[in-house]
Amino acid sequence: MLVTVAKSLETLRSNFFWVVRKRTRSLRGLSGIKSWLRVKRVVSGSEVCYIVLTTDCWVDAKPLSIRFPRLYALEGDGRCRVADRWDGSGWRWQWQRSLEGGRSFADFQALLGLLDEVGCTLSSDTWVWGLSSDDGFSIAETRRWIDDRVLPVGLLKTRWCVLVPRKVNIFIWRLLLDRLPTRERLSVWGFEIESIMCSVCGLVTEHLLHLFCQCEVATSIWDHIFRWLQIPSFGVLHPKEVFGWIEECRLRSNQRKVLEVVVCAALWIMWRYRNDVIHESRKMRKGIILDCIKEFSFVWFHNRHNKVVVSWTDWLQQPLNVL
Ligand SMILES: [Zn+2]
Repeated sequence: MLVTVAKSLETLRSNFFWVVRKRTRSLRGLSGIKSWLRVKRVVSGSEVCYIVLTTDCWVDAKPLSIRFPRLYALEGDGRCRVADRWDGSGWRWQWQRSLEGGRSFADFQALLGLLDEVGCTLSSDTWVWGLSSDDGFSIAETRRWIDDRVLPVGLLKTRWCVLVPRKVNIFIWRLLLDRLPTRERLSVWGFEIESIMCSVCGLVTEHLLHLFCQCEVATSIWDHIFRWLQIPSFGVLHPKEVFGWIEECRLRSNQRKVLEVVVCAALWIMWRYRNDVIHESRKMRKGIILDCIKEFSFVWFHNRHNKVVVSWTDWLQQPLNVL
C-alpha cells in the first residue's frame, strides 16, 4: 500500500473515532467506491443524543422524521433519545394513538426493519470496524477490501519483455488494459473530439479491437507477418489472444522471444501509423508499415539480446530460425 494511502487511512481512523462530527468521509481517489467505509455504529443513546425520530441520520441516509413524517407526528416526545425507547431487550414506543392498519402501520413496519440492522446496547455509543472479526481497525484488512474493489481481475499478468524498449513495454501494458487513448476511450473519458470513427479507415468506431485486429490495415499486417514468420495464419481477435498464443505455441524458447518482439513491434508500429494519420504526418506511409515492423523488431532484438549476433538478411528471410 502506498504510504500516503496508509497515512490517510490512519488520519481518517483517528478523526472518525475521536473528534470528527462530519459523517460523510472519503479518501481522495477512492470516492467512487460506494460504502467503502465499513464502520458500523453501535447505539445506546444514553449519553449521546441520538434522537429516534428527529433530524439525526443515525440509522438511514435521511432523518427518520423526514422518512416517516406520520410516525414523527405520532411520537409522544419529539426529542426523545434512543435510550428512551430501547430498554435493552426491545423497543418501547409511546405513540399518541395506536397504529392500526393504514400507512402509519406500514411505516412502522419499515422503521422496525431499519432498526433491526442497527446493534443497540446499553453501553455507551461507540464505533466498531466492520471488516474485522474482533472489531479492531486493521490497515491490512482495509487494504485487501479496497484492492478487491479497485484492482482489475481476470487480466493477463503484466508483461515485461526485456528485448523491447521500456516505452514499448508501457505501451503494451496500457494496450492490454484498454487504456490507450483511442477515440472511443477519449469519448468515454469525457474529451470533446471531432469524431469517434476509426482514424485509419473512418468506417466504424475506433476502439481497441478494431484498430489492432479488425481494421483493414491491421488484418493485412497480421497476414503479412504470419507469412513472413512462416507460420499458419489465424484471425487475430484481440491482442491478448496473440500473447496467449505465444505462450502456448510449440516453439523453442528463443523462437518465442522472436515472436514476442515481432508482435510488440507490430502493435507499436500500428499505433504510430494511426497517430501519423491523425496528425497528417508523412513519416510513415501505409506501404512501409511491414518494413518498419521488420526493421524495428530486428534493431530491438539485435541490440538487446547479448548472447547472439543476428544477421539482418537471416532476419528478413527466416526470423524464427536466426538462433
Ligand atoms: Zn479502421
